[in-house]
Amino acid sequence: MLEADGLMVFYENMLALNNVSIRCERHQIVGVFGANSAGKSTLMYTLSGIVKDIQKKEEMSGGERISVLGSIRYMGMDIMQDKASQRARKGIVLCPERRRIFSESSVLENLRIGGYMASSSQARDMLAYVFKIFPALEPIKKRIGGFLSGGEQQMLAIGRALMAQPKLLLLDEPLLGLSPLVQATLVKAIKEIRDEKGISIIVTEQYARPIFPIIDYGFILENGATVLEGTREELMNNPDVRSAYFGI
Ligand code: ATP
Repeated sequence: MLEADGLMVFYENMLALNNVSIRCERHQIVGVFGANSAGKSTLMYTLSGIVKDIQKKEEMSGGERISVLGSIRYMGMDIMQDKASQRARKGIVLCPERRRIFSESSVLENLRIGGYMASSSQARDMLAYVFKIFPALEPIKKRIGGFLSGGEQQMLAIGRALMAQPKLLLLDEPLLGLSPLVQATLVKAIKEIRDEKGISIIVTEQYARPIFPIIDYGFILENGATVLEGTREELMNNPDVRSAYFGI
């Protein structure tokens, strides 16, 4: 479904991604694990094309020079030159780190904004689906985003990404800062999204343990480079991964 090869991202002279190659097959859940600053968000920005928007903005304001190299193929197409909006139209949708919902808008408005490119029947069906997997959102659909709990905001952020009708959903640290109970709810929902909607998912996390049971394949990112990859079982049985990412 998606093959990225030799991705290099420089922020000025600082190398944030160093020759990263990752793959996600259709219907897979792929995990990307790494400590703070390992390059997880940069990778997600690069796959979604947001890095190009940031690059342009910086260029226009005379700010940082950002260089992006490598290749990304998605469903047989070379998408490296596509802007984020073009990639989104092709089905690559990013749910960014720290939830970034519209805090002045209601839950329903946030969801409708997510679905602005979808047809009205697609939007209606997906809205019903979002309330099915996140039933906690329905009774608070008129509440303003900024007044939601962290867990509710994350559900809303994922819901809003779903409204854009993704084929490949990129989830950047969706469990960050949430309680184990809320994390479990989200992990179950993420698996349901893949199982019921057939959406492929790439998910980044700092700590592997909560999300690990649902991934098919994983990559370990250190200092901007992939140092290890393998199936869930291969990674689980690797002693270095166990001590660094599971604390066992
Ligand atoms: P975190 O878990 O803290 O979000 P991460 O794994 O997502 O970390 P990135 O945010 O991709 O890591 O950052 C990778 C490296 O690039 C870090 O050293 C970071 O400081 C640096 N970096 C990120 N964005 C920029 C930027 N706009 N300008 C300069 N350096 C940046």
